[in-house]
Amino acid sequence: MVNKLDAFLIDKIKARWVLDSRGNPTVEVDVFTREGFMGRGAVPSGASTGEYEAVELRDKDKAFAGKGVLKALKNINGIIAPKVKSMDVREQEAIDNTMIELDGTENKGNLGANAILAVSMAVSRTAAQVLSKPLYVYLKELIQASESSGEVKFLLPTPHSNVINGGEHAGNNLAIQEFMIMPISFATFRNAIQGISEVYQALKAVLMKKYGPIARNVGDEGGMAPPMTFTTDAMDALVTAIEEAGYRPKSDFLLAMDAAASEFFENDVYHIDEKELTPMELLDYYSDLVQTYPIASLEDPFEENDYNSFAALAKAQPSLQVVTDDLTVTNLKRLKTAIDLDSGNCLLLKVNQIGTLTESIAAAKLSFDNNWGVVVSHRSGETEDSFIADFSAALSCGQIKTGAPCRSDRTAKYNQLLRIEDELQINAEYAGKNFGTAYKQYL
Ligand code: PGA
Ligand code: ZN
Repeated sequence: MVNKLDAFLIDKIKARWVLDSRGNPTVEVDVFTREGFMGRGAVPSGASTGEYEAVELRDKDKAFAGKGVLKALKNINGIIAPKVKSMDVREQEAIDNTMIELDGTENKGNLGANAILAVSMAVSRTAAQVLSKPLYVYLKELIQASESSGEVKFLLPTPHSNVINGGEHAGNNLAIQEFMIMPISFATFRNAIQGISEVYQALKAVLMKKYGPIARNVGDEGGMAPPMTFTTDAMDALVTAIEEAGYRPKSDFLLAMDAAASEFFENDVYHIDEKELTPMELLDYYSDLVQTYPIASLEDPFEENDYNSFAALAKAQPSLQVVTDDLTVTNLKRLKTAIDLDSGNCLLLKVNQIGTLTESIAAAKLSFDNNWGVVVSHRSGETEDSFIADFSAALSCGQIKTGAPCRSDRTAKYNQLLRIEDELQINAEYAGKNFGTAYKQYL
């Protein structure tokens, strides 16, 4: 335990680009304190990006076909670093607010949410380093605004594991973007990951039998990307794979979907399953699916401006978890609107949608205060940074969405949660079937 103040004061910040999981550049930052402590953060990047997300600053010139991040790096080195120099890494909120003020826009369009978030994440890691605490412990103290004493319990999240990829994440005709399995009957996180892995391997065999070797290709989040068109084909394959792996659909695994419906909404209709559906027809379509398959959670069922249809679905299917992603974009204002209109009951929390750790924590707290659940989520473009694994444990929100059990950008998060569970032993509880409500005991 270091007490010397210099150990906490920022001396310098090093920013660089590294590659994300799609081979595009992204921002990585190292924060150093005067005593040489260092923490790192790397920023993810979406493909089905919400219209109202904070701005991901890209160079838009020849390099990397416009996706370069040199402007963001310049903003860190030239504007952010001089301002936060000598600030205390434990002052997360003050540092985040300094960057928000420096940027001066609603959507972080000046400095870039990618520039700001990399510093924000790295600052928290540096603080944890100096304090010799695991990141999840430090983040929990930050969230609760108090140092933990004695034995502290953590809720480990039920994964929404995206084992079939469609939409913007795959080269097939599935309108819906993500087909996920949720392991619920398992005693530990480790058991749950074993179950996911076994179902994933069974699914690969099921799909290869039906579609041939092309079915083993994977999409952006490591899920299978078979040449499918209809939603029910994907659902049937999931149910079969769960059974082939020796598990029971509904009792051992629930199903979840992220429709990412903005991506198939055009000219006022939804293009899905070779049909064109009005919002109310799409609602009926979902209601049928929910009757037929053990679907527990449905994200972004309608396009990102349609608060009312979200509310209509949540009302029509009261036992369904309706998750808002592009609708709320981890933005307090949009989340408040969604809560006021009952446009769902669970927030998808993506740190890079809003751009600071402080605002992400505020969005989670607002959700909890209003009886909403929270799913901490990756992006389709990821790095090896496993920050969200620690963040999900720290929030004890009970749910994480971080892709298939395949590709290191996805397994980095699962593996970090396995380590956290090992470290915590009896102080770790697996959310399992209580994924949406168990957080209440951890507030
Ligand atoms: P994205 O997709 O990271 O490409 O936006 C993930 C999601 O929609 O949840
Ligand atoms: Zn989504």
